[in-house]
Amino acid sequence: MASTSGIQKIHKTLTQMQKNLECSICLELLQDPVLTKCEHHFCNFCILALLQSKRRPSAPCPLCKEPITKRSLTTHSTLKSIVTAFQSVVAAIESDTGQKCEYSQGVGRRNNMHTFEQYLWMVLKHY
Ligand SMILES: [Zn+2]
Ligand SMILES: [Zn+2]
Repeated sequence: MASTSGIQKIHKTLTQMQKNLECSICLELLQDPVLTKCEHHFCNFCILALLQSKRRPSAPCPLCKEPITKRSLTTHSTLKSIVTAFQSVVAAIESDTGQKCEYSQGVGRRNNMHTFEQYLWMVLKHY
């Protein structure tokens, strides 16, 4: 079954890709990725939630503890297009194989969060 091992290879590559496109706060695919001054990337939503939770103008970066302020964030448009490309590859594989890929499931979990507070609570559990 040559085709099966081919798919497994693709899955392996996609899993590795996902690791690089993942947000360290919500551990899911980046959504509206922003770049911090310390060159780490997170979802725009996650970093704003983190800043809000501290009730201060700055919060330490979850990865390197450098202070992050809202103003120092820049939109990471390159990364955003990579994430979009990744998602369309996953969608194509899902429709080809008729199987749900595990990578896309996390996004659904985040979108299912009903309130901002609920989401914030989930984020803060990591700390
Ligand atoms: Zn995130
Ligand atoms: Zn950092």
